[in-house]
Amino acid sequence: MNLYPNLIIEALKKVRYPGAGKNIVELGMLADDIRIDGKQVRFSIVFEKPNDPFRKSVIKAAETAILTYIGPEVEIKGNITAQSKQAPRPEPKNLLPQVKNIIAIASGKGGVGKSTVAANLAVALVQAGYKVGLLDADIYGPSLPKMFGVEDARPHMETIGGRELIVPVEKYGVHLLSIGFFVNRDDALVWRGTMASNAFKQLIADAHWGEQDYFLVDLPPGTSDIHLTLVQTLAVTGAIIVTTPQEVALADARKAISMFMGEKVNVPVLGLVENMAWFTPAEWPENRYYIFGKEGGKHLAEELQTPLLGEIPIVRSICEGGDDGAPVALDESSITGLAFKQLSSNMVEQVNYRNAHRAASQRVIIKHQ
Ligand code: ADP
Repeated sequence: MNLYPNLIIEALKKVRYPGAGKNIVELGMLADDIRIDGKQVRFSIVFEKPNDPFRKSVIKAAETAILTYIGPEVEIKGNITAQSKQAPRPEPKNLLPQVKNIIAIASGKGGVGKSTVAANLAVALVQAGYKVGLLDADIYGPSLPKMFGVEDARPHMETIGGRELIVPVEKYGVHLLSIGFFVNRDDALVWRGTMASNAFKQLIADAHWGEQDYFLVDLPPGTSDIHLTLVQTLAVTGAIIVTTPQEVALADARKAISMFMGEKVNVPVLGLVENMAWFTPAEWPENRYYIFGKEGGKHLAEELQTPLLGEIPIVRSICEGGDDGAPVALDESSITGLAFKQLSSNMVEQVNYRNAHRAASQRVIIKHQ
């Protein structure tokens, strides 16, 4: 049996709210948080009042509807949670009006150097004279505070335009926020999807990002609720996909690209970055050893007709720079500095091309019918 959200929604349409003559989906009581994991299904039902007298019976009816209309093997017990409707927060039409370009940095799998690329790209853009914001949305493994050497920073609040806003931390000219500034790593790991999404939204809506040319969002690897929250919260200009040349990484990069280009997300892919493209020993900078295979990223880019924005070698200093809190792109004249400089100028060129040839992105509105 293959479970998918619409199957759940159809089953829940059989559940009527007592006295309303309508089902719970029509009444907008189904939260946008259906999670399917094998046979296990989780979601929330939203009740107008926290002490709704039908709370228990509606949850029970939802459970029965799923077991009856989909199958008794679905694991649902205890997985339906009740939420109380909160007063809707007035959401300004455009959340970051002073941000010119919003760029998602994504990867198909973890460990390919996505955060390393995001950090160095941000620094290279600052060096080119752009105003840059960087949001660490890798909520389950935030690594940017360490890469910028600001793990102990605690952003302060400031009253701006009558609102209490979080002020991003500034390091090397980059304005940075990360969930890592607010919770410790072990707590973030056990967060449920909705909690993580809400925290992420808050880092966008309740922070003083101000004027930025490029707002980079370092996403979690693969696909996640955060990806959907991002495109529902902001109009994303384009996505950059980071991969390594191995077959497994390329296969996952392909999936990430089709997710961005798919109807649900619909964000243009600006190009690929091939990280760990070859190994170069510090003492023989002109030698290249293709440890993970040669030009895998380049071939994938050609096949998908998307630009190859950069090729970054494996160099010890990249790893050390990440650990020491000093991204290698700070040294513009080093091999790695030049590689990131090239990447940043290719990205700027692609963004300009995209903005000249394609209508501005829109936020994605997802509704259940
Ligand atoms: P991701 O964000 O994809 O999980 P990270 O950026 O955290 O990956 O990188 C994983 C590890 O690989 C880090 O220790 C990082 O310093 C190292 N790393 C990334 N890119 C390179 C590179 N080009 N050369 C050497 N080490 C690298």
